[in-house]
Amino acid sequence: MKKAALHNLGCKVNAYETEAMQEILERSGYEIVPFHEKADVYVINTCTVTNMADRKSRQMLHRARKMNPDAVVVAAGCYVQAKAGEVDDCVDIVIGNNRKHELAGILEEYWRSEGEKKEEMADIIHAPAYEEMSLTRTGEHTRAYIKVQDGCNQFCSYCIIPYARGRVRSRRMEDVVSEVEALARQGYREVVLTGIHLSSYGIDLGGGEDLLALIRAVHGVDGICRIRLGSLEPRIVTEEFAGALAALPKICPHFHLSLQSGCDATLRRMNRRYTAQEYYEKCQLLRAHFDHPALTTDVIVGFPGETEEEFEESLAFVDKVDFYETHIFKYSRREGTKAAAMADQVPEQVKTARSARMIALGRRKQQAYEDRLIGTTVEVLMEEAVEREDGVYQVGHTKEYVKVGQKTTENLSNQLINVEIENRLQIIR
Ligand code: SF4
Repeated sequence: MKKAALHNLGCKVNAYETEAMQEILERSGYEIVPFHEKADVYVINTCTVTNMADRKSRQMLHRARKMNPDAVVVAAGCYVQAKAGEVDDCVDIVIGNNRKHELAGILEEYWRSEGEKKEEMADIIHAPAYEEMSLTRTGEHTRAYIKVQDGCNQFCSYCIIPYARGRVRSRRMEDVVSEVEALARQGYREVVLTGIHLSSYGIDLGGGEDLLALIRAVHGVDGICRIRLGSLEPRIVTEEFAGALAALPKICPHFHLSLQSGCDATLRRMNRRYTAQEYYEKCQLLRAHFDHPALTTDVIVGFPGETEEEFEESLAFVDKVDFYETHIFKYSRREGTKAAAMADQVPEQVKTARSARMIALGRRKQQAYEDRLIGTTVEVLMEEAVEREDGVYQVGHTKEYVKVGQKTTENLSNQLINVEIENRLQIIR
């Protein structure tokens, strides 16, 4: 039996595809071994979101080659889709996006041709349809990430993703539902709907199928008790959308609305299509429909041309919104994007200083959100036992995605438990 090892780089969508490729190989008779072990085939699902991600992808390909010089090294995914020629020296097979489902067949052909190098790339910009792959299990036991959509039509000026993933392609609703049903039968209780640009779900399908329709369909699956949404575009949050979600009891009041900057001038240069005020109104809409929802976001600091005043505006805006979690990224120049060619790139030490201030603010806000929970009772979907200094805790997440522990040795895994938060030690980061 041939041995295969897989390694994932990058986002949740990539992770989903890596797990799907693993299942494809298992079904084709491969034995899956950990990546650090000797294998006959190494598959690296690469990422290209930053120049650093490119570098890490290359490193992993070289590591695989070193682990077994006779192995077949397969480079798949975003980095090779965007820059196929850059890995020719160290891999045997290159598989771009939209061709990953063909992995087993491509390997078969490789063995048959006695090691003829292969490059299997789709014309990703014109890829007509969603690449269907599915999972029957995932690395986690309670929560499953489900990919429902691929591609993005937005072309934010700093982002390379539309070039690596192509235009919006939505998964058929019935395929999503049957995957969720299968996972529910396996015991999964929570699903997270993810995509490259989740809010665009359905725009290519026609027939009134949109994200809300998909959420309602998933909501109907027995056994699933929580539905969490991946990153949302602020503009999708309308009165109707927020109201409809609030009427669905399985929806987690945890919304990740990607902000990137709280300054309108910076947002325009980023080619983001909302103003800070519009963004704020979306947050307030969600707050009107949900009780203390956890609003989380991403912010880029040091975007080209970001002046001190613009940064201060962004910082003041983040302060005003009161996020539960703020993920801060220093702008990183990505070749091939508009922003990389912009004048007024911000010096690294300025980015670092701005990032430190934004991180400090984000931490204060998170602390404030968590402090509110002390003395309350929250519903936790338990995931695992964790040994801590003062004893064993059963740990899981609330609907808002706050990690909470209950001190007990009783195994509560995969159960919904009401936990009274008596002190801060029960909130785990
Ligand atoms: S919305 Fe913008 S940042 Fe997100 S994937 Fe699309 S182009 Fe990239």
